[in-house]
Amino acid sequence: MIPFEDGHTRQLPKLSKGPFHYTKFASDYLKEAKRCCNLPIKQAVISCSAISLLYPQEGLQDYSKEQFIADLINDAEKDIRTCLESGAYKVQIDFTEARLAIKLDPSKRLLSAFIDLNNQVLNRFSTEEQQRIGVHSCPGGDKDSTHSADISYTELLPLLFQLNAGSFYLEYAAEKNKTEVLKCIKENIKPNQKVFLGVTNVIDPRIETPEEICELILEAARYIPVAQLGTTDDCGFSPFGDDTSTAREIAFAKIKARVEGTKMAENILSQ
Ligand SMILES: [Zn+2]
Repeated sequence: MIPFEDGHTRQLPKLSKGPFHYTKFASDYLKEAKRCCNLPIKQAVISCSAISLLYPQEGLQDYSKEQFIADLINDAEKDIRTCLESGAYKVQIDFTEARLAIKLDPSKRLLSAFIDLNNQVLNRFSTEEQQRIGVHSCPGGDKDSTHSADISYTELLPLLFQLNAGSFYLEYAAEKNKTEVLKCIKENIKPNQKVFLGVTNVIDPRIETPEEICELILEAARYIPVAQLGTTDDCGFSPFGDDTSTAREIAFAKIKARVEGTKMAENILSQ
């Protein structure tokens, strides 16, 4: 169960018998999206570490945790690979539970285990393919609330950048101490990695102006090389698919401001 700041919870399903296999792959959604759009598409997939939580703590008869993890890694790889083969511009692994893992286990053993598991999937891809794979992390963004915003980014980022992925899509707009976050990214990002900073606060209904988004990017560019810097939204506007706390019109207006603000910053930085 995932407890959120405002008191609501999300319950994960529990596996009752093996063998475990995906019945739906993200490439099915990608194929649908491609029918409606000619632009490059970033397809999201669930992290292997999140699905690993479905195995019951008490274990299962005739289906060991080891066998479950082996089956899971195979399908998590297939989930990403079929998206790449179906023409995804990028594939984004949603690793929302990263900061939550530190909250649940401050020794960071759980987070390290999650990083290791996700790297077992990432290591099945070539260096070129890894450049097309990204990782999203945030403190949760469900029903205008979060589950782990009280955990400092500086605790997470050094381990997060150990993931063998080319892009990192990070919640940022809602962060209080932005300078601390920028410094930590600068210290830990690898030369072959890019960071896409969230410039849209998805749990605040106020629509950002392009000017303030431009300002956020210019500030970030003082710490992070422009060639490694991009923008994104802090999180999905409805990550569990049933969250109506943000109206569609507001979400689109916020995305429009992000695109315009990013263009403004790009013009200034390319001068
Ligand atoms: Zn998120």
